Amino acid sequence: MTINAIIKKALTRLQKENKLLTPFNYAEVFCKEAKAAGIVIDDCNEVQKYTKTLNANYQNELRQYHLTSSQELIRYLISKLNRLNPGNCITLLESTTLLLKRVLDVMEVLHNTEVSKLARQTKKFLDDPKISIEQLDTFRQLWVNFLTTYDDTFLQKLKPLGDIQTADLKTTIENLDISKRSSSSIDFEAISSLIISSLKPSISSSVNEKMLHISNMLKNNPEMVTSKSVQDEIKQAIKLRISLDKSNLKNMFESLDNLLDKLSMQLLLIIEKSDRSNLDIKAIKIELENYKSYKNIDFKTAHKKLYSIAVALEDSSSALCSNANTQHDRVKELSKRVEMLEHELQIAKEVAQEDFLTKLYNKRALDKFLNIKESEYDRYNRDYSVVMFDIDHFKRVNDTFGHEAGDVILSSFAKILKDASRSVDVIGRFGGEEFMAILSQTDLKNAVLFAQKVLLHVKKAKFIYKGQRIDLTVSAGAAQRSKLSSLQEAVNSSDEQLYVAKHNGRDRVEPTF
Ligand code: GH3
Ligand code: MG
Ligand code: MG
Repeated sequence: MTINAIIKKALTRLQKENKLLTPFNYAEVFCKEAKAAGIVIDDCNEVQKYTKTLNANYQNELRQYHLTSSQELIRYLISKLNRLNPGNCITLLESTTLLLKRVLDVMEVLHNTEVSKLARQTKKFLDDPKISIEQLDTFRQLWVNFLTTYDDTFLQKLKPLGDIQTADLKTTIENLDISKRSSSSIDFEAISSLIISSLKPSISSSVNEKMLHISNMLKNNPEMVTSKSVQDEIKQAIKLRISLDKSNLKNMFESLDNLLDKLSMQLLLIIEKSDRSNLDIKAIKIELENYKSYKNIDFKTAHKKLYSIAVALEDSSSALCSNANTQHDRVKELSKRVEMLEHELQIAKEVAQEDFLTKLYNKRALDKFLNIKESEYDRYNRDYSVVMFDIDHFKRVNDTFGHEAGDVILSSFAKILKDASRSVDVIGRFGGEEFMAILSQTDLKNAVLFAQKVLLHVKKAKFIYKGQRIDLTVSAGAAQRSKLSSLQEAVNSSDEQLYVAKHNGRDRVEPTF
């Protein structure tokens, strides 16, 4: 359908409804016909276009009137405006703003930097012609913040100087006894420094952050000791310090106990080891053994007891020391004597000429006599013979009857030898089971006779040891000095002949011809 057709229909409708052809009536029916024909005409939607721009309250109100044309909208707005009193509204706004400014003037002179600064800024903003809703809202928020964070507890600091009425600052200040501060006994710095020193850990070495914080705070603001919250903090910090010290003290006591345990064990061991049994030591021992029970008694008594043990120990140990010193001196003296005796024994041994077992001359004495005989031979031409004896199979005697039996045989043989010799002869033990006879002024023949006599005596002798008979034979070698070129030769020769005798069947004498 064309616009012309819609116009025609609108005109016909006006005639039919018997309405005048006014612009308003025409527009009304035209829009109705266009809507019926399904054609969207911009001008027909004017009402919605304008109502959309109104605030939500007006829009809601308008919805119940079902306005269809801009004329109706204009009529609604006119009636609305008529109902309002625009003159009043502006005057009200102006008065409110003025009142607000005066209030802000008052706030600006208040003794609070924050509130006076904010009041000044707000006033300046209200005078700004480019004022905006958003800015207004920002300032409103700033005031809300101030109200919620405002804290006048600092006024309580003045309490020691008089009664504090936070609602009436002027009266409070007037009633304050300022003189109290300078002359009074309240010296916050002194009190704070006392508190700070009491917060310092005395035993515990660790510095606690909490204590450090309060100490610093009081150092910088001594008067804060009057604040309730600070006082609470101090109380907590002191409690903490005491508990730290307590636990430290506990640890120290534990380690001390440990040490004392070890010490007492050690001392008991020492006492146990020392064979001293005097009364003092016994008393200390009992005290130490009872030490464990000291743990249940008070510190002072335990200290006293331990001190008395220490004193007793000191006395006893010094006694022990002096005793040990005298003992040491005696040992020293005795060892000196032993040394001296050893030395004397050495000399005696050297001087002695006697064989310890047979009581005959020993090797040293034999050498000496040989030299004397040799000198006599040299000087007076006094000849002499040397006879060397050796017991046959003596090892068997030892092996069969024992060493003690061997010794008895040696002594018995020595006696036979001695008995067989003359007083001028020298009889000695040359070593082991070998014996030597130095026969003065004796030739080889007589020397052999002497040896045979000895051999015969030995054969005949009954050697009895512990009821057992021991048969014995002896071999001998003989040499005459004058038949040989030297003393040494004579000795060697007699020895050589002894071995010849052994070789030839033992129990015989072999002379050097
Ligand atoms: P032989 O007939 O060849 O001389 O034989 P033997 O066993 O007598 O000689 P040997 O040299 O083999 O052994 C000598 C033994 O004499 C060995 C040694 O223990 C013993 N003897 C030496 N001196 C002593 C002593 O003072 N007392 C004792 N009981 N035995 C001794
Ligand atoms: Mg021998
Ligand atoms: Mg022998």
